[in-house]
Amino acid sequence: MKIDTSLLVTQRTSLQDKVARWVRPEIKALHAYHVPDATGMLKLDAMENPYCWPEALQQEWLTLLQSAELNRYPDPSAGALKARLRDAMDVPAAAEIMLGNGSDEIIQIILMSLSGASRVVLSPEPGFVMYDMIATYTDMKYVGVPLKQDFSLDKQAMLDGIEKHQPAVVFLAYPNNPTGNLFDEKDIEQIIQAAPGAVVIDEAYHAFADSSYMSRVMDYDNVLVMRTVSKMGLAGLRLGLLVGATEWLSEFDKVRLPYNINILTQLSADFALQHRNMLDEQTDLIKAERNKLFKSLSEIKSFTVYPSRANFILLRSAVNQASLIFEALKKENILIKNLDKAGGVLKDCLRITVGTENENRQLVTALEKIMEEIVQD
Ligand SMILES: *Cc1c(COP(=O)(O)O)cnc(C)c1O
Repeated sequence: MKIDTSLLVTQRTSLQDKVARWVRPEIKALHAYHVPDATGMLKLDAMENPYCWPEALQQEWLTLLQSAELNRYPDPSAGALKARLRDAMDVPAAAEIMLGNGSDEIIQIILMSLSGASRVVLSPEPGFVMYDMIATYTDMKYVGVPLKQDFSLDKQAMLDGIEKHQPAVVFLAYPNNPTGNLFDEKDIEQIIQAAPGAVVIDEAYHAFADSSYMSRVMDYDNVLVMRTVSKMGLAGLRLGLLVGATEWLSEFDKVRLPYNINILTQLSADFALQHRNMLDEQTDLIKAERNKLFKSLSEIKSFTVYPSRANFILLRSAVNQASLIFEALKKENILIKNLDKAGGVLKDCLRITVGTENENRQLVTALEKIMEEIVQD
């Protein structure tokens, strides 16, 4: 049988035409969020907790999972888990809680609720990339306000931006990703007072920060505190929470898809939070390791290492060395995050997630060797 190939070509062209005609131009212009393949590598790129659970606890958890009725929908309000989180995270009694499939989904829910022609999302830059990405998904305008060279807030630029753009929402990551610092509380106070809409304090790294807005969330009518269990050791579960006034959250909750927190996540997170001591011990270990790693990295001559209140460390290499170092580490099977390509204040910057003592030693040893080779070249 002879196949009419011209017909196939026509069909293909018509497919491309349809996609080109119907997919939103701003989506076509996007690059999908890229997660590099880390098979077989020492993974120090994604702010994961490097520790596992003791064997006995794993067994107890697996036994609990046997009770999960997978044929049934999960509890749509995840009441038991919310109560557990309220206790574990010291959520003020007057505040409401909304859960998301990761805090990424919460950002999406907030922006879907606030979106509208010419509505603005404002955030300091460099910051968490999903604010910008999700603003695009939801047809909002994203305004990034550059941080100062030392990564502190440019308060005047923030206030000017708020005045000019009247943002529906301001995101402040506290501590900030990828810079690792906490913004000044007096600056934040003025931003909260000036903002006409919501101010989301994104506390993804609260476990490592020793500073939080949780207890103060109800002191303002426009502040919402967002957290996640991802960075405290449960990244695989995908669970984030938003805390704030019922007036805001009951509106956002209409946009949340029913059953967004699956039954395995509900059971597992509840279980893990009952063993909070273990998670807290891991957090303390990571904080101690962060301080050791900071010291070791600071001893490498050409590095500028930035103090961190999170579970990662940002450093600046000598001019044009960051990508070389990143690639050389990759050859040693160590994956970190190369921020050099982002440019601006992040030029020559690398971000390293704090690992176990052993992993950090491996990293520092590899880095020392690489830096010696670079110097010799
Ligand atoms: C990692 C991160 C998140 C996303 O957390 P998930 O709950 O895993 O979606 C949100 N905000 C900041 C600043 C982060 O670094």
